[in-house]
Amino acid sequence: RSMLSQVVVGGAARPLIAAFLQERMQTVTMIPGDGIGPEISNAVMKIFEAAKAPIQWEERNVTAIQGPGGRWMIPPDCKESMDQSKIGLKGPLKTPIAAGHPSMNLLLRKTFDLYANVRPCVSIEGYKTPYTDVNLVTIRENTEGEYSGIEHLIVEGVVQSIKLITEDASRRIAEYAFEYARNNQRSSVTAVHKANIMRMSDGLFLRKCREVAENYKDIKFTEMYLDTVCLNMVQDPTQFDVLVMPNLYGDILSDLCAGLIGGLGVTPSGNIGANGVAIFESVHGTAPDIAGLDMANPTALILSAVMMLRHMGLHDIGNNIQNACFDTIRDKKVLTKDLGGNSKCSEFTDDICRRI
Ligand code: NAD
Repeated sequence: RSMLSQVVVGGAARPLIAAFLQERMQTVTMIPGDGIGPEISNAVMKIFEAAKAPIQWEERNVTAIQGPGGRWMIPPDCKESMDQSKIGLKGPLKTPIAAGHPSMNLLLRKTFDLYANVRPCVSIEGYKTPYTDVNLVTIRENTEGEYSGIEHLIVEGVVQSIKLITEDASRRIAEYAFEYARNNQRSSVTAVHKANIMRMSDGLFLRKCREVAENYKDIKFTEMYLDTVCLNMVQDPTQFDVLVMPNLYGDILSDLCAGLIGGLGVTPSGNIGANGVAIFESVHGTAPDIAGLDMANPTALILSAVMMLRHMGLHDIGNNIQNACFDTIRDKKVLTKDLGGNSKCSEFTDDICRRI
């Protein structure tokens, strides 16, 4: 872009430049979400503008609506936008407890078959946490396990919830984990399981991981019980690199790992499907206690947006934004309350923009 503006000068060339830039622009579906969602989404859009990221946003609200037969679905305009753009960035969505509509997060993952949940947990230099050198990635199977939604009332007072594990989904997530390791210069993959107790379901998951590992001799493969991982993780997280696991274990372990680097306010994530379809999201909730007060920490959504840029091949812009964000945190002068400062979300955002 800068080369072009140096070579072509004069008013007559401006439409050409505009057309060139328009062509390079990629559309991303922005789902601001609820609570603090709109505030942290605005922060990201402002930072992208400062970084001259070639992204145009298509904003869509996700509210729970019911289709034919009472089936819960995401709004058609959001589905259409995602079908076109293939890439989404999402703030948190509220979920009613034990009644009402199901989790719209789950529905989004199901609708677009986003089978891999990826959460890099990397210590941020200068931000004091219990550990300083964490650098690992949890990869969680996102479509089945205990979260398949198969629950029955057997008789009054007895319910059954079914854990579903399939060969295809286990192989697919194992392949994703090894590919991720190879493409991101990581050296080992650990399969996390409880195949000693759930011999058939976790046994199948583990067998598929072992089979896939055979095709990736350049990546070290280890396997470990979930409880052993938890113990080892709090004793010395540096021993882990990429971890792959079924859905429920991933949900819990990934939050534990986020705690090691300072919590959900600084942890990004991506939900990846086939053919490049992906939705990147902050993993924290809607923070209703601080919504609308300009107090939210936008770091998790900013770093999720950085993951998104890398997924789209825009590494340089992603690195610029990440460095500016980390510099602001390291500098400690403009920090939101949860990071130990007194600044507003908007001031934190402006400080990052100034550094880009
Ligand atoms: P929460 O993450 O919203 O809040 C927990 C605590 O962390 C609160 O004190 C909040 O103020 C603080 N916090 C969270 N994110 C922050 C940020 N970015 N900056 C500063 N402080 C932050 O968890 P909750 O209260 O259990 O859930 C609230 C709602 O969010 C619920 O409806 C829940 O279903 C939903 N939720 C959504 C997602 C998602 O969309 N991915 C994830 C978790 C929870």
